[in-house]
Amino acid sequence: MAAARRIMARCDALAELSDLATGIRRVYLSAEHRLANKRVGAWMREAGMAVWQDAAGSICGRYAGSVEDAPALVVGSHLDTVPNAGRYDGILGVLLGIAAVEALNGQARRLPFPVEVVGFGEEEGVRFGTTLITSRAFAGTWDANWLTLRDAADVDLAAAMKGFGLPPEAIADASRAANPPFAYLEPHIEQGPVLENRNLPLGVVNAIVGCRRFLARVDGAAGHAGTMPMRLRRDALAGAAEAVTRLEALARRRDAVATVGQLDCRPGAVNVVPGTVEFSVDVRAGDDARRDALVAEFEAELTGLCAARNLVLSWRETHDASAAQCAPWLQAAFSDVLRELGTEPLSLDSGAGHDAMAVAELCDVGMLFIRCADGVSHHPDESVTATDVAWALAALQRTLEHIAQMRT
Ligand SMILES: [Zn+2]
Repeated sequence: MAAARRIMARCDALAELSDLATGIRRVYLSAEHRLANKRVGAWMREAGMAVWQDAAGSICGRYAGSVEDAPALVVGSHLDTVPNAGRYDGILGVLLGIAAVEALNGQARRLPFPVEVVGFGEEEGVRFGTTLITSRAFAGTWDANWLTLRDAADVDLAAAMKGFGLPPEAIADASRAANPPFAYLEPHIEQGPVLENRNLPLGVVNAIVGCRRFLARVDGAAGHAGTMPMRLRRDALAGAAEAVTRLEALARRRDAVATVGQLDCRPGAVNVVPGTVEFSVDVRAGDDARRDALVAEFEAELTGLCAARNLVLSWRETHDASAAQCAPWLQAAFSDVLRELGTEPLSLDSGAGHDAMAVAELCDVGMLFIRCADGVSHHPDESVTATDVAWALAALQRTLEHIAQMRT
């Protein structure tokens, strides 16, 4: 419990590093990012790790193993935050990694592989509008076009990197593609209500869901709300509304989530039949085939209902990201450990994106979810209990031991 309380106190200490007078916001390559790296680096050093900042600005620590040159196991998550953030999203995973190494170091114990901890500098995409910048640099999938991305103050990423002391031309040095770790573990708060609902402290992530987004446009005919008879109407909004509830029903049947979060109705007057509606569609599932089947089914229903209502449909895809599967052997290792600890190893999908998505292109990944109160995140009310943090630390430590046994 003492170790868990210390992790919580460190989360509190990092919460002080904010560019807002009240509330937490810590963005990539800012003065607060520099201070966070410094503090986290000091904790890594205290835990017996060699410490460096990589070419993308992530803070990295390495605790040597007993076998020289063995590929590493990496524990990581991110240190940046959204505006008005909580204090655990991302940060907790990094600090759990450091605490697990601290425990090994305290017993002078070496595993047959190095254990590294990474505090990624950018996951949320707040400053430059692109997410997972630093974990993509780590995975070797950095996109050179990112250097021209601009923040709200019109500073481009290349200039921000230089200001942070990072030469943009050296970015490839952050890539671990030439010496990939054999596994990446990311403990993270759930950011959803499932664990709390099931009264469980921890969960094992199956996959980080893939997401497809579309923009649909439905054209009918605008008309006078008083004079246009119902049977002659081509009401674009009535058609779109039917589409929204059909999408909801499909997602419930197909074990996926689907959302219409934006809807624009024109001309948008109280006394005019809607002539044109545009709406967004966001569909996610832990399995790409299941998600794609739902999309195809919805597209067919949408086409059919528009035809029946004499509406003209246009539909285009705006985003497509594949699901990232967690490695079965890492899911099994977490599950075995949770059973040993006496808690049910519930497996669940992650509906939110995480650094593990990017790292999955480099090596096997596993994610452990930690219960958070009311499923709240990206908000100052984000909260976890010290007891659950103690569960998470115990699970992480045992998983490292478990993997060590498998590799000796
Ligand atoms: Zn996060």
